[in-house]
Amino acid sequence: MTTLNNSKFDIAIIGGGIIGSSIAYYLLQRSPGLSVCVIEPDSTYEFASAVRASGGCRVQFTCPENIEMSKYSIDFIRNFEQTMIANGRPAPVDWVEGGYLFVVPPENTANLERNVKIQRDHGCVVDLLTPAELKQRFPSIYADDLGAAAHTPHDGWCDPNGMLWGFRRRAVSLGATYIESSVISAKVDKVKAVAVQLADGSEVEADKFVNATGAWSGLIGDMFGMNVPVSPMRRFEHYFTAGTPVEKLPYVKDVARMAFRSEGNGFSGGLVDSNEQRGFNFEVDHDYFERVVWPAVAHRFPAFEAAKCHRTWSGLYEVNELDGNPIIGAWTQGLPNLYTVTGFSGHGMMHAPAAGRGIAELMLTGRYETIDLSRFGYDRVLRNEPYAETGIL
Ligand SMILES: Cc1cc2nc3c(=O)[nH]c(=O)nc-3n(C[C@H](O)[C@H](O)[C@H](O)COP(=O)(O)OP(=O)(O)OC[C@H]3O[C@@H](n4cnc5c(N)ncnc54)[C@H](O)[C@@H]3O)c2cc1C
Repeated sequence: MTTLNNSKFDIAIIGGGIIGSSIAYYLLQRSPGLSVCVIEPDSTYEFASAVRASGGCRVQFTCPENIEMSKYSIDFIRNFEQTMIANGRPAPVDWVEGGYLFVVPPENTANLERNVKIQRDHGCVVDLLTPAELKQRFPSIYADDLGAAAHTPHDGWCDPNGMLWGFRRRAVSLGATYIESSVISAKVDKVKAVAVQLADGSEVEADKFVNATGAWSGLIGDMFGMNVPVSPMRRFEHYFTAGTPVEKLPYVKDVARMAFRSEGNGFSGGLVDSNEQRGFNFEVDHDYFERVVWPAVAHRFPAFEAAKCHRTWSGLYEVNELDGNPIIGAWTQGLPNLYTVTGFSGHGMMHAPAAGRGIAELMLTGRYETIDLSRFGYDRVLRNEPYAETGIL
């Protein structure tokens, strides 16, 4: 970690969380001579979303970009420990191929079937199950009120903290400079971003800037005069045990946004409240599990009737209020050398590898070479044209 006086870089990445660190890695891996700095105020990452995430990675999306990003990222995460060796040190991320399971009521069955077809068309392995087949596969589930389920056995979860540090250490080994301070303002001229001022009093100039500050990206956008419609939304995660023996469960999700998976001898997850008031709120509501999560979990898996919550923590989703999908690309109509990678709305950990690779392609060559992420560009925000997922979020 370095503190510098005024300095100039080819590329300055604002935010050194999982997205910013992934971008630094992909830029330098592809273009070793580049000077890249990552401006990150907190190397403990106390409030960063990444280290509070539950680690889920899945191909069950409907936008082709998300499916392709997941396919690439999951493969990358599977090999992360070796690919990200930095100075001889492997980068374990504890990948567990535990699978994902989406369950839906009868009225959502046709939609689920449509979504599964899209995923299969992209080469994903997805088992569409009737309630009876579901019950056979996961005997502890209550399936009488369900219409269907989709099981993706090659999905899974990993350790987000290991992934963040794997990217960061590797980026540093390739030459990235991490500056321990926060951006407090930006200097722009009529056609480009010129510099950012830091809380330590220094200034960083660069040819190109990236806003990779997740839940804080709206604030950073404002500093450049760019409206980034991303809000912080608190979300609780709980570690709980069942009380009665239950088979190992995949990452189970339903239309009410209940989401949990096996973790060690217990389970990790929660129930996302999409109406949670936006803001930088980390306060923990210790009744939330009993009041909201437990009834949902115990309904779906009666063995959880005696479930016990051992720990609750909170973190921030970086919600793109337009459509819940990421904003990736340059602000072509404003400051074309300002790039934004944010708004993953709860999927940024799993998509960090693909998003990092994609933006590095765009910044270094002017176009996407692997997955075409143009539809996630900022232009749709300016046009106010949502491009949203149609399945379970
Ligand atoms: C409870 C919970 C569960 C989740 N589960 C999953 C999951 O299962 N799968 C999944 O894919 N995703 C999950 N997510 C979402 C995921 O954590 C985020 O999408 C992802 O971490 C976003 O990465 P990021 O780098 O953009 O943001 P962060 O990890 O938050 O990093 C942003 C960084 O910007 C820095 N920053 C802030 N202000 C400034 C400034 N002024 N100057 C410079 N730097 C600044 C911050 O210090 C921070 O380190 C979950 C999130 C939560 C909260």
